Amino acid sequence: MFENLIGQDSIKQQLISEIGQNRLPHSILFSGEDYSGKMTAALELARAISCSRDNAPWDCDCRSCKDHRVMNNPDLLLLGKRYFLEEIKASAELMNRSRAGFSVYMFIRNVRKLLKRFEPAIWEGQEKKLSKYSGTLSSVIEMLEQLDPEKELMPEDALKKYLDDIINQIRTLTAAVPGTTPVDQIRNISKWAHRTSSGKAKIVIIEQADTLLESSANSLLKILEEPPPHVTFILTTDRKGNIIQTIRSRVRHFEFAPRSEESSRVILEKLFRYEDSKLSLFQFFQSWSDTDYNFISTHIRLFMDSCFTGASIRDLDDLFQYFDKHKDKDELKRFLRLLSDELRLRFIEDPDLNATVEGQILISDIQNEINLCSSNSQIYNQSSLFLLESLFYNVREKYEAFCK
Ligand SMILES: [Zn+2]
Repeated sequence: MFENLIGQDSIKQQLISEIGQNRLPHSILFSGEDYSGKMTAALELARAISCSRDNAPWDCDCRSCKDHRVMNNPDLLLLGKRYFLEEIKASAELMNRSRAGFSVYMFIRNVRKLLKRFEPAIWEGQEKKLSKYSGTLSSVIEMLEQLDPEKELMPEDALKKYLDDIINQIRTLTAAVPGTTPVDQIRNISKWAHRTSSGKAKIVIIEQADTLLESSANSLLKILEEPPPHVTFILTTDRKGNIIQTIRSRVRHFEFAPRSEESSRVILEKLFRYEDSKLSLFQFFQSWSDTDYNFISTHIRLFMDSCFTGASIRDLDDLFQYFDKHKDKDELKRFLRLLSDELRLRFIEDPDLNATVEGQILISDIQNEINLCSSNSQIYNQSSLFLLESLFYNVREKYEAFCK
């Protein structure tokens, strides 16, 4: 079990032991940075508890495991948002480059992680909304079925065109996944959870559970207070502090360690066949986003420089114009996350910062400002332009105080 989760050994061992002793609770929270392995662990946990055998490995040949491997098990529901497009594009490129069976599996799983958000059970009562996407959905499903990991792939040029075509349709679908899981969907999963099933276990995974609005969180709490037997809820978050206390007290919490440079390197080598990559996993996946990654990374450095040198905020006009055009909250989240990476890098490289207590406090204060900015965007839906401007002045003020 958990063969495909790289690193996070203590969590792996704990989960295996609790499954073995039948002590695993019905409500679980996985917290940790993006790309720390929470979803991989959640999906493997779902497979393991639904498997008709005990302790069976990832490639178990029971019906349930076979369905889980291609993410097509009817007893699994997925809700919430993630960076769908980035991982789908990265795995498509891998399939074009390696043409290996494992890359086909990875691609199918990544696309199905998205398709799973469109299960009719989740959209009951909202069929009209869903029907707008039904053409695109069936087309992607049909195209996906033509990709068989066990068979020879189509010729190179045809494959590239085929995958590009799928990805174009994926863009339409990702836009349809709600940024925060609406209360209707939570009520629907409650109904679904109470229905009987033919399988051994039913699993609901809710990603970015910290973004649930109050009504959804309260509705979820009701289910967690009296979970139907045979149903397991797995919540994931990269900001556990934003999950309401009443939910936190109902779940078993597992904290995923941030990916070290070495662990990122191993994952990029083993899964994506990139040797000696210097990118963090976050940087790697973001380089596959539709965002102009070069623009963003240049402006992250410019943002820090401007905060630290007393330059005018006007120097950041291009950046502000960019966020005026791109109002998607994920876009700001991405920017802030990369800004944190840049901050960490400057801290490591600058002895004025890392060798003094004041420097360490400054960095941690700036990091808090960045986190606050991210919460205000995700939870309170404040405008990206307003948040970035406040962040700029707050960071500058802290830096000026430090220099005195
Ligand atoms: Zn099995």
